[in-house]
Amino acid sequence: IERTLSIIKPDATARNLTGRINAKFEEAGLRIVAQKRIHLTKDQAGEFYAVHRERPFFDELTGFMASGPVVVQVLEGEGAIAKNREVMGATNPAEAAPGTIRAEFAQSVGENSVHGSDAAETAAAEIAYFFAGTEIV
Ligand code: ATP
Ligand code: MG
Repeated sequence: IERTLSIIKPDATARNLTGRINAKFEEAGLRIVAQKRIHLTKDQAGEFYAVHRERPFFDELTGFMASGPVVVQVLEGEGAIAKNREVMGATNPAEAAPGTIRAEFAQSVGENSVHGSDAAETAAAEIAYFFAGTEIV
């Protein structure tokens, strides 16, 4: 059984969408096996998104991720990484399939409501960044 790291981003917590987003995960068969609400510093956001350090949108991205509380969570299920990416929809909400979280809730390519790990190695590293093994049940 696979696990992935999900983040409900500040644009979504600000609009009180945590429950509706979690319902999408659960309806898709993903189980929320760890969850906490935290407020990242810009430095922490930069550490988390270090792969994007050279991108032109890095400053905007880390500023946004530190602009309000986020909900970090571990989702578990068969093929959880790919399934979560499917439920999230494309990065740009204008290109996201109908019914996906980003199609329904995202405001722009930057403020796009959710993050999901993109591969097994990144999922393991991202889960370990936020959670101790004993917090995942
Ligand atoms: P995430 O990693 O958050 O799950 P993703 O894998 O769909 O999203 P990435 O290419 O990894 O997309 O980009 C990481 C995040 O950076 C995006 O989710 C978005 O918030 C932001 N981002 C990506 N492209 C742009 C852009 N052109 N302008 C502003 N922000 C962007
Ligand atoms: Mg990504």
